[in-house]
Amino acid sequence: MEYAIYIKDIEPESLVDGIGIRTVIFCTGCDFKCENCHNEQIWDMNSGYLIPIQKIYDSLGIDNPTLSGVTFSGGEPMKQAKAFHELAKMIKNNSQWDIWCYTGYLFEDIVSSKDDKYELLQLVDVLVDGQYVDELKKFTLAFRGSSNQRIIDVQKSLKQNAVVEMPACSNCGDYIFNKKEIEKNLCQDCHDIKKPEIEKNEWLNRMEMLNSKK
Ligand code: SF4
Repeated sequence: MEYAIYIKDIEPESLVDGIGIRTVIFCTGCDFKCENCHNEQIWDMNSGYLIPIQKIYDSLGIDNPTLSGVTFSGGEPMKQAKAFHELAKMIKNNSQWDIWCYTGYLFEDIVSSKDDKYELLQLVDVLVDGQYVDELKKFTLAFRGSSNQRIIDVQKSLKQNAVVEMPACSNCGDYIFNKKEIEKNLCQDCHDIKKPEIEKNEWLNRMEMLNSKK
């Protein structure tokens, strides 16, 4: 059986739909109908074209060394979970790419569904979950539209049987992905704001250490 997915577009080199330079598949069809959704024109699945997954796979740029992964977006990828699962299998079998997936469902609901959505989740690395909530919109949020949406490390979460979110800045609470930021436990912006305080504390700690050696 040849699987196919209703899609609107494939974005070849995106910097805003996950870490690194990624290919993004925008599927059509979504029943959540969030208020002020930016993609209202693709709520109807028939607003897209039904494309066989082999054709989609061939256009992802799997051999392009500058790309680090693929992002399933929409629309609602979980509405076509079976076909996306087959596509994810092809990607995982033939590349080192990671897979990000946006969904209006919550991680916990997908796990307890034990249906095609759960099968797809098994092959996803990072899930951005939850519906878009307009009152919680913030333009500065990393990789998502509203602050209720979580960025989840799926494989860790499945292993630990609990939601494991990506590391967050200890000051503003937004997610951080850069190694240096994770080490400091602060995003770059908060680090710059708190720099005088951090330097003062470091200086006080040094003085304390010197005094204790006397
Ligand atoms: S889940 Fe996403 S695509 Fe669907 S209505 Fe909400 S914001 Fe729009």
